Amino acid sequence: MRILLVDDSRSVTAMIGARLVELGYRLVVAENGKVAVERFQETSPDLVLMDIEMPVMNGFEAAQRIRAVEATQRWAWTPVIFLTGSDTPENLVTAIEAGGDDFIAKSAPEAVLQAKMKAMTRIAALRAQLSRANLKLEAQASQDGLTGLFNRRYMDQHLDRLWDDASKSGAPFGLLMVDVDNFKRFNDHYGHLAGDDCLRAIAGVLAQIADKANLAGIARDAIAARYGGEEFALLLPRCTQEGLAAVARRVVEGVHGLSIPHSANEAWGVVTLSVGGAHLPRADGKLGPLFRDADARLYRAKTCGRNRAELG
Ligand code: GH3
Ligand code: MG
Ligand code: MG
Ligand code: MG
Repeated sequence: MRILLVDDSRSVTAMIGARLVELGYRLVVAENGKVAVERFQETSPDLVLMDIEMPVMNGFEAAQRIRAVEATQRWAWTPVIFLTGSDTPENLVTAIEAGGDDFIAKSAPEAVLQAKMKAMTRIAALRAQLSRANLKLEAQASQDGLTGLFNRRYMDQHLDRLWDDASKSGAPFGLLMVDVDNFKRFNDHYGHLAGDDCLRAIAGVLAQIADKANLAGIARDAIAARYGGEEFALLLPRCTQEGLAAVARRVVEGVHGLSIPHSANEAWGVVTLSVGGAHLPRADGKLGPLFRDADARLYRAKTCGRNRAELG
C-alpha cells in the first residue's frame, strides 16, 4: 500500500509519516497541492492523505485536479482523506464537496488514524478488484469466444466509427469478406472439434495479417473479425486498391500455407478459403454497397473454383 502524504509543514509530514511507516505503509511525500498532483500522476498511490491549507495550491484544488486526472482513466478512484486542524462539521462538508472521501484531525489518536486508513484501503482494494473485473468483461464482450478475434458486435460498432471518420475525410476504405471452403464437409469428415481448431488456426492467420497491415502502414486501425460461423471480415481503413490486393493474397496464401489436411476439399486437399473484396478510393457515406460488392465477389470466388480472391 502506497500513501501520498501532503502537507506544507515538515513537522506534520515527519510525525504522521513516521506513524504510517510504522503501520507498514510505503510513503510518498509532497509539500503542496501542485506537487501532490504531480506525484499522484507519477506514483499512482493507493490513498491520498492531504492537508487543506497549503501555499501554491491548497488541498481542495489539488483534490479536484486529482479527480480530473482520474476522469481520463477508466474506473479509477483513489481515496482522498483530508488532514484538518480540527474536526468540525464545516470541515467535513467542505472536504466531501471538494471530492474528498473523509477527513481526519492531525491530532487524532493513533488508533483513529489506523482505523480510517484500514477502512479506506479496504474500499480502494474492492474498487480495484471491481475495475479489473469490468475491464475483463469489456474485453470479453468484444471478443469471439472460439477464436479470440473481435466479434460481430464489436465489428459493427468499430465499423460505424471508422466509416464515419473515413467519410468525413474522404479517405480510402477496403473490405474483405472471407469464407472457408467446403467447411461443412470438413466437419462431416474430421468432426466439429477439429473444425473448431481449424477456425482458430485461420483466425490466427487473419489477426496476424491485420496487425501487419497496420504496422506496415498499408491500413490504419485494421481489424479482423469473426463475422459469423466460418465467415470472417477484414476492415482496412485507408488502404489503397493495391494494398487491398496484397492483403487478400496474403489471406488466401496464408491459410493454404497452414496445410491443414482436408481431403473433401477436392481440388486442394488442404483447408482453403475464398475472399471477396471491395474498395472505395474515397469513402462517401454509403456503406451498404461496399458489403454487397464484397459478397457478390465472394460468391464469384466460390463459383470460379475457390481458394482465391475476387476484388473487382
Ligand atoms: P462453401 O465452400 O460453399 O462455403 O461451403 P461450406 O460447406 O463452407 O458452406 P456452408 O455454409 O454450407 O457450411 C458452413 C459450415 O460451417 C456449416 C457449419 O457446420 C460450419 N460451422 C459454422 N460455425 C462453426 C463453428 O463454430 N465450428 C465448427 N466446427 N463449424 C462451424
Ligand atoms: Mg498547512
Ligand atoms: Mg459460409
Ligand atoms: Mg464456407
